[in-house]
Amino acid sequence: MNEQPLSPGCLVGEDMVDEKKRTVAVVGAGVIGAAIAFELQRRGLQVTLIDKGEPGRGTSYGNMASVALDFAAGSGPATWRKIPGWLLDPEGPVWLRPSYALKMLPWFLRFVAAGRPSRLREIEDAGMSLSAHALADFRSMLSAIAAPQLMTEEGCLAIYENEAEFAGDRAHIDMMRRYGLDFDVLSGADIRALEPALSPSIVKAVLLPDNKSIRDPYELVVKLAAAAQSLGAGFISGAVRNIEKSGAGTSVVLLDNGQRLTADAVILATGVHTRALAEKLGEPIPLETERGYHTQIMKPGVSMRYSVIWPHRAFMITPTAGGIRVGGNVELAGLDAAPDFRRPRVLVRHAQRAVPALKVEETTEWMGHRPALPDTIPIISASSRMPGIWYATGHGHLGLTYSATTARLIADMVTGTKPAIDMKPFRIDRY
Ligand SMILES: Cc1cc2nc3c(=O)[nH]c(=O)nc-3n(C[C@H](O)[C@H](O)[C@H](O)COP(=O)(O)OP(=O)(O)OC[C@H]3O[C@@H](n4cnc5c(N)ncnc54)[C@H](O)[C@@H]3O)c2cc1C
Repeated sequence: MNEQPLSPGCLVGEDMVDEKKRTVAVVGAGVIGAAIAFELQRRGLQVTLIDKGEPGRGTSYGNMASVALDFAAGSGPATWRKIPGWLLDPEGPVWLRPSYALKMLPWFLRFVAAGRPSRLREIEDAGMSLSAHALADFRSMLSAIAAPQLMTEEGCLAIYENEAEFAGDRAHIDMMRRYGLDFDVLSGADIRALEPALSPSIVKAVLLPDNKSIRDPYELVVKLAAAAQSLGAGFISGAVRNIEKSGAGTSVVLLDNGQRLTADAVILATGVHTRALAEKLGEPIPLETERGYHTQIMKPGVSMRYSVIWPHRAFMITPTAGGIRVGGNVELAGLDAAPDFRRPRVLVRHAQRAVPALKVEETTEWMGHRPALPDTIPIISASSRMPGIWYATGHGHLGLTYSATTARLIADMVTGTKPAIDMKPFRIDRY
């Protein structure tokens, strides 16, 4: 086994742990891991960030860039009653590959169970406890990495083509009212006054002024990882295959290439791949991939100020630094199936209906894996089995939104500071 240091100040042999600084290995350089690495290094710990690829090239690369404070609703009956209809609609927002249906069943049963009214309220409370801090934490993170310009100041418009669609979103609107979220219902000319690109067929909209957008989610991760490194964090490129405890009580991170990294604390932030690592550590978690797609339109022929969500069709249109991004979809097909790019093309057609001037020139298509837990709230937790190991995973549809808050909470727990919110709902041993 190769136990020599990989890069200065980051890879330490078991006999080389720095006495002065606690060492932390953060595994996974998506938006969650990069934000955690930055926050921990900023608090004076010695961090090594590890990724099997380059920072930001996982799911965090291509999300719809929305800091979505309103989205914390769980899988209530209102959602799962729609699912059979969605599954039968070839252009619907959810697609299950028949070959994956049986594998998906245990997860789906847990998802339905999470929708029972008493549990649903707990889930919403937990999600909203994160949302309540998400925007302020995000702003503070961006300012700390000197990149406040990455966040737009315009909000998001939820759009409806008819009253029935608006009525279909009532549970969500009630939820926003219950939690005191700021929103404004608009109709007719008021919609076009805000966003002239929208079609007159959009008869109703809800303006969500606090749902900001990130101009380039990939650039955000790159900047977070670079900021952590500029403060002294190390970076290792390599796949982690397991973690063991050393005799001294530290953790030894084992990489595929035979390298070993010893650290006082290890944070697992490997997105959907955390399932495999957790299983090896003896604490299986029901983490599934909710695959999603985007089309990046570099020459859209139209400019937009607001990000737009169409709740009935469950997708978004987001102006980004590199043109307009159209995306969403939930495809249940596991980790290994090849992407099916017919899905994002349906969304582009829907987008052209909402934004008639949208041209589809110079495009790229992308698929990513949302790390999805059946109760829709993340795991932000110490391991229940191995001291010194922490999980930050399962952020599903909201990993970008909750990145800064997750980083703060993990850093609080690792440094023994009392977190600002109740962490019980996010524990790994709830399963
Ligand atoms: C279409 C789509 C739209 C979305 N829109 C939004 C949105 O608008 N707003 C929002 O908040 N969220 C959105 N999301 C969700 C969000 O993108 C995810 O929740 C988030 O990116 C998850 O981040 P992560 O860091 O946990 O995972 P990832 O970004 O996948 O990062 C995990 C990292 O771990 C590394 N890794 C994995 N295994 C290992 C290993 N064994 N060893 C070393 N490294 C490893 C990977 O290489 C990767 O870099 C969307 C997702 C999709 C698919």
